[in-house]
Amino acid sequence: MCPSCGSDRIMEIIYGLPPMTQKIQDELNKKTITLGGCIVHENAPVWMCEACNCKFDHAVDKEYAVKTVQNIIKDWELPEGDKYIVIESATIEKEWGWVLFHTSKKYFETNDLKYAVAGNAPFFVLCKNGRFIVTGTAYPLEHYIQRFEETGDPHG
Ligand SMILES: [Zn+2]
Repeated sequence: MCPSCGSDRIMEIIYGLPPMTQKIQDELNKKTITLGGCIVHENAPVWMCEACNCKFDHAVDKEYAVKTVQNIIKDWELPEGDKYIVIESATIEKEWGWVLFHTSKKYFETNDLKYAVAGNAPFFVLCKNGRFIVTGTAYPLEHYIQRFEETGDPHG
């Protein structure tokens, strides 16, 4: 709910340039998201009230963090009959939020390398506002965590 006017029409502010897919367009039309511009400040708020236009942050819990990542990866394509899942048991808790891992459901269940997926970079989800950040696979995870803790950007 909006902390100023109490409205429950809340939009998530998306920073940067999202790919203009049908899904993004639909969400813009439904006003579940709005665009915040290209420049992302570390402390930029994540939520905006549709009724009074105020912008705000609110803290999220681990369950929300898992759901956020699930929502992102559920549309990513895998061969027929397989899908991406969050490996909840692998989640790392940090002072600033969580590191969440995902993989192919079939690989998780069978450990069979033929189902393994490449490039599944872990996500950070920040507890102060629920923002998610995609890391990379070029370096070990510790590198991204260290960069993030030093600069506010895992790629910084
Ligand atoms: Zn409001």
